[in-house]
Amino acid sequence: MSLRLGWLAEVLGDSPTLNLSSQAQALIKAGEPVINLTAGEPDFPTPDPVLAAARAALADGHIRYTASAGIPELREKVAAYYTAASGLPYAANEVIVSNGAKQVLFNALSVLLNEGDRVAIPVPYWVSYPAQVTALRGKVIEVAPSRGWKVTPEDLERSGAREARALILNSPVNPTGAVYDRAELAAIAEWCRSGDFFILADEIYEDLVYTGAGHVSLVQVAPDLRHRIVRISGLSKSYAMTGWRVGFGLADKPTIDAMTRLQSHSTSNVCTIAQKAALAAFDCRPQVAEMRQAFHRRRDALVAALAGVGGVRFAVPDGAFYLMLDCSEVIDPARRREGCWRLASHLLEKQKLATIPGEAFGAPGCLRISFARSEAELREAVARLRVGLRGFPG
Ligand code: PMP
Ligand code: GLU
Repeated sequence: MSLRLGWLAEVLGDSPTLNLSSQAQALIKAGEPVINLTAGEPDFPTPDPVLAAARAALADGHIRYTASAGIPELREKVAAYYTAASGLPYAANEVIVSNGAKQVLFNALSVLLNEGDRVAIPVPYWVSYPAQVTALRGKVIEVAPSRGWKVTPEDLERSGAREARALILNSPVNPTGAVYDRAELAAIAEWCRSGDFFILADEIYEDLVYTGAGHVSLVQVAPDLRHRIVRISGLSKSYAMTGWRVGFGLADKPTIDAMTRLQSHSTSNVCTIAQKAALAAFDCRPQVAEMRQAFHRRRDALVAALAGVGGVRFAVPDGAFYLMLDCSEVIDPARRREGCWRLASHLLEKQKLATIPGEAFGAPGCLRISFARSEAELREAVARLRVGLRGFPG
């Protein structure tokens, strides 16, 4: 008799974003002249004060377990930062430090969902939302926008999101770069008031907004819903610290306590050295602003270059570092099922250009382009894209 793995081993695929990104990196390491537009991570170095704090932590022997929810000084700093940023008081015991925003999300979904519960997820979505819901034996309700890339209360109502136990609202959005403004958030908050569900506000790209109005957090427009909102963020994107694995969750104490209990049995604390280093990140706001300006310039360079490419359409991203390129015009309708997987392979093989097919995010016919690359690389990438599209058989 052969033992079989459990049900999850059969249904769970790998993360296409991480997978395609490491494939591209492996090709580059092997000497291939690949331009890698897959990676959802800044290419800047982590700010010096953070590196110095990590070295000091090692020198001072901070090498032991910490409290599972994080060292008290860091929880206090996070609480103080978000209190000041949003004008809503957060206490240290309303903060958890986890292994990236990814674990915050997993902890939150784990303690909020019961088996079979539904979670409403706007489409297109970041790849790990449906995967995590599935892993927790929940069910996904996809909420498709009727216009553009952002969902409205009408879209939520039409998709049956009212039946959900939780709604994941990500802004700025991975993979489209869309940013919900105050009025749009207020309308969604008003719709949420008429229902009874939790809201996971994934604001990991909060510092990367290129509009004058900047980032607006859901709790700012709906402080009365705060007891139902788990705010998710972290250092990965704003501070160029993807590999450090420092994410933050902010919610009511009972929710944070439950998430902490789970974390204490699963991964325990985030690496002690990374936590100590994270304390220095909050002094690096000027570096965050510099990186945002650089991303803004890159966004503009990419948009300007793409404007001259035929057969594709896109909306200018207002935030994050992604642009969703609609390539459906160049795809043979008879081969729509394979969608952009074929196009992405073609671009990689023939043009050494790595992108991620929109199908991974629930956006068929599109390619996700990360503009966390230098302006020179982005211009070269668009030149290759133009040639690649011309040579694509459809
Ligand atoms: N949410 C979104 C929307 C993301 O794009 C990412 C990308 N990694 C995460 C959460 C997870 O971030 P982290 O690396 O901090 O786990
Ligand atoms: N979130 C980033 C992306 O979408 C990093 C990879 C991942 O964690 O999915 O590319």
